[in-house]
Amino acid sequence: MSSTVDRNGRHAEISGAGFAGLTAAAALAQRGWTVRVHEKGKELREQGAGIVLWHNSLQVLKAIGAWDRAMSDSMTPPFYETRVQGRTVSQEDFGGLPWRTMTRPHLHKALLETALEAGVEIRTDSEVVSADPRGEVALASGETLKADLVVGADGVKSAVRDSIGFEQERWKSRDGITRFLVPRCKDELGPGDWDNVIDFWNLEPRYLRVLYVPCNERELYIALGAPRDDEQGSRTPIDLDLWTSVFPELAPVLKAAAVADDPKYYGYETTVVSEWSRGRAALVGDAAHAMCPALAQGAGTAMTNAYTLAVAATEAADAGIEDALTRWWHTERPITDRVQKRSADYAANRGMSKGNQFDEVNLETAQYDPTDTDRHATA
Ligand SMILES: Cc1cc2nc3c(=O)[nH]c(=O)nc-3n(C[C@H](O)[C@H](O)[C@H](O)COP(=O)(O)OP(=O)(O)OC[C@H]3O[C@@H](n4cnc5c(N)ncnc54)[C@H](O)[C@@H]3O)c2cc1C
Repeated sequence: MSSTVDRNGRHAEISGAGFAGLTAAAALAQRGWTVRVHEKGKELREQGAGIVLWHNSLQVLKAIGAWDRAMSDSMTPPFYETRVQGRTVSQEDFGGLPWRTMTRPHLHKALLETALEAGVEIRTDSEVVSADPRGEVALASGETLKADLVVGADGVKSAVRDSIGFEQERWKSRDGITRFLVPRCKDELGPGDWDNVIDFWNLEPRYLRVLYVPCNERELYIALGAPRDDEQGSRTPIDLDLWTSVFPELAPVLKAAAVADDPKYYGYETTVVSEWSRGRAALVGDAAHAMCPALAQGAGTAMTNAYTLAVAATEAADAGIEDALTRWWHTERPITDRVQKRSADYAANRGMSKGNQFDEVNLETAQYDPTDTDRHATA
């Protein structure tokens, strides 16, 4: 994929250079659009630690030509293991369904390089303050830019969504998480299945959880979960005595987390927006459907919907782009709604702690192939 693609005379302005914005940008530019992405941050970088991707987003990485870059420093752990009060209750391998773990900076870099290679222009320190469904974005600098397509990929606090006035419901779950990227510390951890993803649950006498996700041979993502109203469990920097007393087997990696720079506790957030497009403006990713991380599909659905948006917008004759966007989200939304709802239910009832929760129903989104042109005919 390269910038030598024939240009089709259409232009897109995208707010946000996260996973959703970069995927949409690359896919549009590869289809002939000129694309400009605005990122309000001063630098192009992904906050956060690690990520689990499944077949749906892996297919997108292949389709946009980011596959080799993303796969280069990532892994498929042997099992997704669930442990409760120190006892293994399940080890799932998803029956051969492709899945992959990696660091967020690594995925971001793979998407960024792919977008730049496709000819996307990216402006940092460029905040979008509002958008207009007729195809305009206004920047904090005072500049107003016109486009055939405006994409709000600006996350859970989306300015595109809020300035246009999409109706929405937003709520926070009772739990949240502090995420770290630390060295694997395999030797210090001692013998064990340390290549597995391991979801450690402590339910009695209090809820505390560690999601252990190896990303490659060197880097480990750990997410420390605690209720929002647990002052000690949600404290940053973490209370090392508390965490090592509950999860003594993880002491070496918890010690590394305790000295991490600038840790932040995030409450899980769900956002349900009435429509995903209005006029020439469309929403993708957390701007449209932020979800709890139980089924690890926030970024997966962000990339999936960003990709299908680019395909749908390109296929529309220019006069029909508004209808094409409406058709796009009516077609693509139901599967995202379902995984979002299931993820919110799991956050509310902590049901992932039962183990063996990745059944056919819960893997529906993971198995989806947004690049299969017959996907809706066969659904
Ligand atoms: C604890 C936790 C674990 C998770 N684990 C997984 C997982 O394993 N797998 C998975 O698929 N998902 C996971 N998710 C979800 C995933 O992180 C998000 O769904 C995904 O990052 C959303 O991407 P995005 O591009 O839509 O938004 P963001 O990543 O929020 O990116 C938005 C970008 O827009 C920029 N921006 C914001 N406002 C403006 C503006 N006004 N103008 C210009 N730029 C702006 C921001 O700076 C940012 O760069 C997890 C989430 C959490 C909280």
